[in-house]
Amino acid sequence: MADIIIVGQGICGSLLSWSLLQKGLSIKVYDIGAAASATCAASGIINPITGKRFVKSWMVDELFPAAEKMYHDISRTVGVDFYEKMPIYKLLESVKEQNDLSARATEPGYERYFQNSEVQYLDRDKVHNNFGSFVINGSGKLNTPLFISSYRNFLKEKNILVEEPYTYEQAISSDTKVIFCTGFKAAQSGLFTGLPWQIVKGEHLLVTIKDFYSDRIISGDTGIMPTTTPGLYYVGATYQWYYETEAPTESYRDEMVASLHKVLKVPFEVVGQGAGVRPSAKYRRPFIGFHPDHGHIGIFNGMGTKGISLSPYFAEQFAEHIVNGKALLPAVDIKNILTKTDQQ
Ligand SMILES: Cc1cc2nc3c(=O)[nH]c(=O)nc-3n(C[C@H](O)[C@H](O)[C@H](O)COP(=O)(O)OP(=O)(O)OC[C@H]3O[C@@H](n4cnc5c(N)ncnc54)[C@H](O)[C@@H]3O)c2cc1C
Repeated sequence: MADIIIVGQGICGSLLSWSLLQKGLSIKVYDIGAAASATCAASGIINPITGKRFVKSWMVDELFPAAEKMYHDISRTVGVDFYEKMPIYKLLESVKEQNDLSARATEPGYERYFQNSEVQYLDRDKVHNNFGSFVINGSGKLNTPLFISSYRNFLKEKNILVEEPYTYEQAISSDTKVIFCTGFKAAQSGLFTGLPWQIVKGEHLLVTIKDFYSDRIISGDTGIMPTTTPGLYYVGATYQWYYETEAPTESYRDEMVASLHKVLKVPFEVVGQGAGVRPSAKYRRPFIGFHPDHGHIGIFNGMGTKGISLSPYFAEQFAEHIVNGKALLPAVDIKNILTKTDQQ
């Protein structure tokens, strides 16, 4: 019998299973297929500088080294390269933005995330960049479908993967610990619907562009990321707090095409479209820990828009909590949100 059952093999279930395996536990991972996962829809970027004010992402100095290490370790073990460092060229919209970013780049603690404090211009025949761009370093890109499929093969070879659904009823009667890593599905039914979810759908396009940059991510009105196929780019993604379908829609396709025209001066062709639902938390912190009424049932979720950078660090922290009883960071521990039924 396995020590721990993990439900879901998106980024959360994959990395938690990896951390637990490294600590010598025997596990089973149940997953019904990654086609509808947020992870496979993601652009896979880890970006240290975010928002209109160009501030460091929460805990970036700890999260990014942990993420790079874990992706490299798994890559070496499964023998597939799915992670690469890649700079982000953030397009600027005004002189004020130029000044704000130049000032930010010289602040203590920011040096390592900026190549320099100078504005850089991209080829003006290819990209609208009247105010130039700023180069963000320390960023990277996980090829998420490749990561999920190669790690899935690794689990299959080790006889760990069970390609079946797993229910909360099964978990309640289980003798072993069960951790749900089921993405946005956990907000819809089951034991964890009471957490402060704020799920957000995202759509993206795949486009072909001739003779375009293949060594950088361009972030403007929309993002443009090279894929591993030459000439093919991931564009997006959108943020939809209200939606009627989890599938891609024509209206958002049109919106992304319009955004892309604002960035690109060269022609492009849309060759694909995808969608996923981000399991976001209202207060933008992950949901980690065990249920107050069912102490053997846990959750590793709520990664929102930053699953690729948050999950490695917190997978390791949760594994340490499970195996060695180390405390979870209070900001992510669900025991500070959910209370026992008899205390309500
Ligand atoms: C369009 C888009 C772009 C994004 N871009 C980025 C980005 O650039 N950088 C970044 O950091 N983050 C990005 N994100 C966010 C990131 O993708 C998510 O935070 C992360 O993938 C969530 O992973 P997860 O493992 O929690 O959920 P998921 O990836 O959804 O995985 C859940 C898994 O559980 C399985 N499952 C569900 N219920 C059951 C059950 N009962 N039994 C068995 N299996 C079950 C599902 O099949 C699925 O495989 C993006 C998201 C979207 C949608």
